[in-house]
Amino acid sequence: MKIRLENISKEYKDVLAVNQLNVDIEDGSLVCLLGPSGCGKSTTLSMIAGLDKPTEGNIYFDGVNVNDVQAEHRDIGMVFQDYALYPHMSVMENIEFPLKMRKWNKKRRLEKVSQVVKVLQIEELLHRKPSKLSGGQQQRVAIARALVKDPKILLLDEPLSNLDAKLRIELRDEIRSLQKKLQITTIFVTHDQEEALSISDKILLLDKGKLQQYSSPKKMYMEPENRFVAGFLGNPPMNFINGILDNKKLFIIETDKKIQVQADYINNFKNYDSGNHLLGIRPEDLILSENKSGVAGTIVSIQTLGKEVHIKFSVENIILKACVSWDHNYAIGDHVDFDIKRIHIFN
Ligand code: ADP
Ligand code: MG
Repeated sequence: MKIRLENISKEYKDVLAVNQLNVDIEDGSLVCLLGPSGCGKSTTLSMIAGLDKPTEGNIYFDGVNVNDVQAEHRDIGMVFQDYALYPHMSVMENIEFPLKMRKWNKKRRLEKVSQVVKVLQIEELLHRKPSKLSGGQQQRVAIARALVKDPKILLLDEPLSNLDAKLRIELRDEIRSLQKKLQITTIFVTHDQEEALSISDKILLLDKGKLQQYSSPKKMYMEPENRFVAGFLGNPPMNFINGILDNKKLFIIETDKKIQVQADYINNFKNYDSGNHLLGIRPEDLILSENKSGVAGTIVSIQTLGKEVHIKFSVENIILKACVSWDHNYAIGDHVDFDIKRIHIFN
């Protein structure tokens, strides 16, 4: 099912929770709705589900305006952060509940439930009560309950936020492969940029109710359209420095003397005229240079983290962070040179 949001806004008493959102979601794709807490993700999802009405704008499913279609007639499966299982019902009863509401007979219900629980690998749990399940198992049950109706759209609101890190990664990969297998149009709400980067066909990044960028994860990471997008994605975050574009050359101007910087690639170069701009450099785009050609600095800290090492170095009075590999031989106080792979320019 294709989804179109046309100029959707949602205004609460004194908050504009969603501000003129225009988005097309392709049939069979997985879109992550990403952004900081309070940016309007859940509000957007509830409007698509029909649980909330937009103050303004139109929602279309496969070209049909569904503004006045009740939630139960929108053919949607929903999964929430807190699982929302019925505690007094067994797993079986929880999953078959939507089919009971549709007046399916017992035989048909059983057939359908066994199909779904097989896919989610929870056959063993059918007779347990939710309180006897781990968080990961409860969420599988909630997903099974959402999918048992064969919905046209799957909406997940921070479904993994209550799980520990390892399980979160496991289940997100499973949700992604399940979604691909079923080819079901899916909107997945998360505030976790890494989660969004790893499972989406497209990411829709919101801030304060406003769309910041809607593109593939790769494009959003490599070509962020504004400073917010650039700063929200990436860990450790992008370095931001005041700079100047002067006669097609870039300089850092926060330092006492103007330092010219060069890069293999400059993102947004064509969009900006000469003048003061903000420059962004991702830590992994600072590459230790052998031949003293890059930006020169002095190491002020070295932090070793699992597979990578974060080096902070000072260039006069500014501090930049770089990611380097394990096999370096540097120490605090060493002079280093970094070549820059990619610089981003912002307003
Ligand atoms: P997110 O899911 O991204 O954390 P929400 O969509 O829940 O954000 O909320 C967006 C904004 O709308 C927030 O400022 C929130 O306080 C406000 N909001 C959400 N629901 C209501 C409501 N029912 N009444 C008033 N304000 C609300
Ligand atoms: Mg929310």
